[in-house]
Amino acid sequence: MIIERLSNRLKAVASFVEKDAVVADIGSDHAYLPCFLIKTGKIQRAVAGEVAKGPYDSAMHNVKKEGLAAVVTVRLANGLLAIEEKDAVDTVTIAGMGGSLIASILENGKSHLQGVKRIITQPNIHAESIRKWAVSNGWEIKDEHIMKEDGKIYEIIVLVEGISSYDELDLLLGPLLRVEKSSVFLEKWMCELEEWQRVLNSLEKAKATEAIEMKIEQLTRHIELVGKVLEP
Ligand code: SAM
Repeated sequence: MIIERLSNRLKAVASFVEKDAVVADIGSDHAYLPCFLIKTGKIQRAVAGEVAKGPYDSAMHNVKKEGLAAVVTVRLANGLLAIEEKDAVDTVTIAGMGGSLIASILENGKSHLQGVKRIITQPNIHAESIRKWAVSNGWEIKDEHIMKEDGKIYEIIVLVEGISSYDELDLLLGPLLRVEKSSVFLEKWMCELEEWQRVLNSLEKAKATEAIEMKIEQLTRHIELVGKVLEP
């Protein structure tokens, strides 16, 4: 049942999980992703972590309904606190949230990342926060993907341990995505450019304050930099 119901977005996240990984899915809501990974034979064991009682209950319900209670441990916990040493987790997935929330979950739970070799994130917005967190914490970007489903654009960022250095545009657009320049990537950043231009136009009409001038400067810079990347 869960196999048929999984969104293309979560299927794309699943495709970056390595065979026989031990996965902790944080913010697991219905536990669809861990159940899918096990039902498709990709992994043998998983932890599903959820901070909110309602989604935790529905994760529990689905895991039991699918007959997976022996192999998917569901925990009510904040962020990476769902991971215990005895789980021997080597892969963390965090999907379907804003990039800033994902980065704060990683930052606050750093001490639970021992033994983790791969972090697969799927921010809905502000992917830049995750790339910045990676650079400051000894992780590098191994893979990136951008896709559209039901009219929404999603990014996936796969991190592995390593020293990385990215420039301003790498952090904003994604070092791999900006080279690949897929049609979805171009669509996303064309929309952003239009939105920035709209905000810039209204700020330029507003009464000048130090904060407004700084924002104008930042937007002008981003419009120029990103505009160049989008040029054919
Ligand atoms: N990961 C699923 C997906 O991609 O479809 C669910 C996404 S849902 C929009 C986000 C879930 O993350 C919610 O169920 C929310 O309760 C949970 N969440 C938010 N902050 C969390 C945290 N600090 N620790 C664990 N779960 C969290």
